[in-house]
Order: sequence, then structure tokens, then C-alpha cells
Amino acid sequence: MPTLFISDLHLDVARPHILDAFDRFIVGEAMRANALYILGDLFEAWIGDDTDDEAGRRFITGMKPLRDARIPCFFIHGNRDFLLGEDYARRAGLTLLPDPAVITIGGRRTLLMHGDTLCTDDVAYQRFRALSHTPAWQRSFLSRPRDEREAFARQARAESRRYTTDVGNAALMDVSEVAVQAAMRAHGCLRLIHGHTHRPATHRFDLDGQPAERIVLGDWYEQESWLAV
Ligand code: MN
Repeated sequence: MPTLFISDLHLDVARPHILDAFDRFIVGEAMRANALYILGDLFEAWIGDDTDDEAGRRFITGMKPLRDARIPCFFIHGNRDFLLGEDYARRAGLTLLPDPAVITIGGRRTLLMHGDTLCTDDVAYQRFRALSHTPAWQRSFLSRPRDEREAFARQARAESRRYTTDVGNAALMDVSEVAVQAAMRAHGCLRLIHGHTHRPATHRFDLDGQPAERIVLGDWYEQESWLAV
């Protein structure tokens, strides 16, 4: 039975076709898997487990067949949903994994990441990421009223849209090969699976004399996209 990997669904009530596609994926492909790994940016935005997010409710319902079938589902945070917490994870039936995480599939050590930490040329983003991953920042953010948190998320998305449509930033937004190789070397893995860049591909290369591969998952904006190993 295959192990399935998905990322970058960016679930949002504004994109009902993706919510529907996800429901179909769960009752179809996912039910024949031995495990499902979601490598981040499952949600377009996540501002706290306490907000009773509508896409979040849809996801919990959609995941019921997997929970009932006891097919394990793992989640690595993305840059959009890094605030998804243990409470929501428990309700959805997700097991939270750190980023990076190493799993073994068919005897092969495989490194899993969302992918944002590999974009080391984007210094401004890495600075924000470091700050927003501190317990103090998260405590303070999560204690703010819901409408303030929503306003912050809206503004962050608008800034990100402006930034990502600027062609001058295209190279910044891909992973750094140096960061990729350093991460794989540090974890003793010849296979890396990640999302984030929305540039699905399999990159094969030589890592210290051994054949290595980096598999990039696709987003779900226009069609479902998954990797079966
Ligand atoms: Mn991302």
C-alpha cells in the first residue's frame, strides 16, 4: 500500500472546488493508503485553534473516513498554518510532526519538510519566520482578539501577493540548493520531499557521490496533486 504525500492545498471557503477535491481524495486514493502525510499549507490561513474556522470544520468532517479506518495522518506546519495547534490536530485526527522530520519508507530514510526553511535567500521572510516561531510571539498573537488576528493575516497575505508577483523576487522564492544539500547531509537522507514553492518536480542529483532526489509537491489550485511512494 502506498504512503501518500500532499501539501499546499490552501483550503479556504473562498475556494469550494478545492474543498470538494479534498473530500474526493480522502474517500478515494487516501482510503487505499497506509499513511497520509500533509506537508504544510493545508489551510490558506490559520490564526488559532479557537476560531472555529469554517474550512477547518470542513476538513474535520472530510477526514472522518480516514479516522474511522485508522489510517494514520501526519501534519507538518506550513508558513500559512504554523499556528495550527495540538487541540485542532487532535480533533482532526492529525499527528503533528516537527519540520524537518525523517521517516523510513521501504528502508529508505526520507526527509520531510514544508520547504520554507530552504528558501534561505529570502532573508526578510526568514527573519519573520524566526520571530513568529518563538513561544512569546505566538502567545502574544494568539491572545489578541479574533478580528485583530484576521486583520493581521489579511495584511500578511496581501503583502505576500505583492511580493510574489514581483518578478524580481522569483529566484528568492525557490529553495537554495546549498540549503537543500546541507539539510539532507545533516539528516543522512538521500531523498527529500517538500512543498511550499508550488513548483512540482523531481530533481535528481549527486550528493557526496551518491544518487539523491528532491521531490517537490504541487499545489491544488487547478487540480488535485499527490505523491504516492
Ligand atoms: Mn508555504
